[in-house]
Amino acid sequence: MARPCVLLKYGELMLKGRNRGKFEEYLRDALRHAVDGASAPVRISQRPGVVVLSGAPMSELMDRARSVIGVSVVQPAWRTGRSVDDALATVSQALTERFGGPDRVGPRRFAVRAHRRDKTFPLNSERLAARIGSHVVEQWGWPVDLSDPEVEITVEADQREVFVSLHKERGQGGLPVGASGRALVLLSGGYDSPVAAYRAMRRGLRCDFVHFTGAPLTGPSSTYKAYALVRQLDRFQGGSRLHVIPIGNAQRALATAGAGKLQVVAQRRLMVRTADALAREVGAHGLVAGDSLGQVASQTLANMATVEEVTSLPLLRPLVAWDKEEIIAEARRIGTAEISTLPDEDCCSLLTPPRVATRTTPSQFATVERRMELDELVPKLLADIQVHVPGAA
Ligand code: ATP
Ligand code: MG
Repeated sequence: MARPCVLLKYGELMLKGRNRGKFEEYLRDALRHAVDGASAPVRISQRPGVVVLSGAPMSELMDRARSVIGVSVVQPAWRTGRSVDDALATVSQALTERFGGPDRVGPRRFAVRAHRRDKTFPLNSERLAARIGSHVVEQWGWPVDLSDPEVEITVEADQREVFVSLHKERGQGGLPVGASGRALVLLSGGYDSPVAAYRAMRRGLRCDFVHFTGAPLTGPSSTYKAYALVRQLDRFQGGSRLHVIPIGNAQRALATAGAGKLQVVAQRRLMVRTADALAREVGAHGLVAGDSLGQVASQTLANMATVEEVTSLPLLRPLVAWDKEEIIAEARRIGTAEISTLPDEDCCSLLTPPRVATRTTPSQFATVERRMELDELVPKLLADIQVHVPGAA
């Protein structure tokens, strides 16, 4: 009797040489996190080029596997003995489970795709596919259609078992979280920065988060939102930390110092300076922000340059060339859109001048920033930090 499992596959392209071992290690960590707290203990078994999950109900394994970054294909399967007879019986079992039985369903165009990951299997792939195909024709009376099948039967043999499946889905794709190091995400409450964080994770960056609030000039609503966003993003990596830093007083000081039209970009420079210092404390080697070129006045090329001038860390902007509709569609897909639409008191809209300078240069900030005594301000902001772990509990 065949048993259910889920097969996970990953893109092989980048898996040359030493990278492969590392990649698989990070993927295993991500899988352990993903199956943590399942209704039954989940076994994770690494085979050449494939990971097999088993132990919990199939639908639960599928749900959990779908959120794992680094997995390109998620495939529910039946596993059975390593013989042609077992494979044939399992194909019948899988088809019966799905369609009820040969007398319960009309003809379906079908194809068999067979792969041997173990070349000592008694039949080669072509002959295995032919053998299974003729079995289905005899038992079910279905026509073969290799180019446009309605039912695709995949049969894979490895050293120990045969796997049969009728369905596969795309996984999250990308590189497993951690494989590219660690970054600090500047997270506001809008659509953009959570999507930027997700895209950074998808390129293998383990992410910490920093959110700046307008406290004491604003209430806690933006922090609640940031918390909820990190909780949602934590599904993709686990162990996420959210650092909350109140900058209301510093914002007011900038305004008092006469920032005027430069206020918004000056605030952003302060955020990035502070994030740079925090990143060094938490061991992050890059910053991530949600800017998209030209989306708002503060996101012109000139302003981006003025902002990134205050950090020597790479300031990554994964959404720089994305349209707003693309960003919102992705936010829906990853489950952050609903949180982002909630109202909040955003610190950026606080003290925003009627006109925002679109063509700033770093030297314009010299006078205002000298009055801020940044050398003392940044450590003071860091001392006021609150750390949350939204994924726990
Ligand atoms: P978002 O949709 O992410 O809020 P936005 O379109 O509102 O972005 P801006 O407000 O110009 O754009 O912010 C640009 C980027 O600066 C944000 O994507 C985020 O990375 C960072 N940022 C802005 N405000 C904050 C904040 N309060 N705390 C942390 N980071 C922020
Ligand atoms: Mg914003």
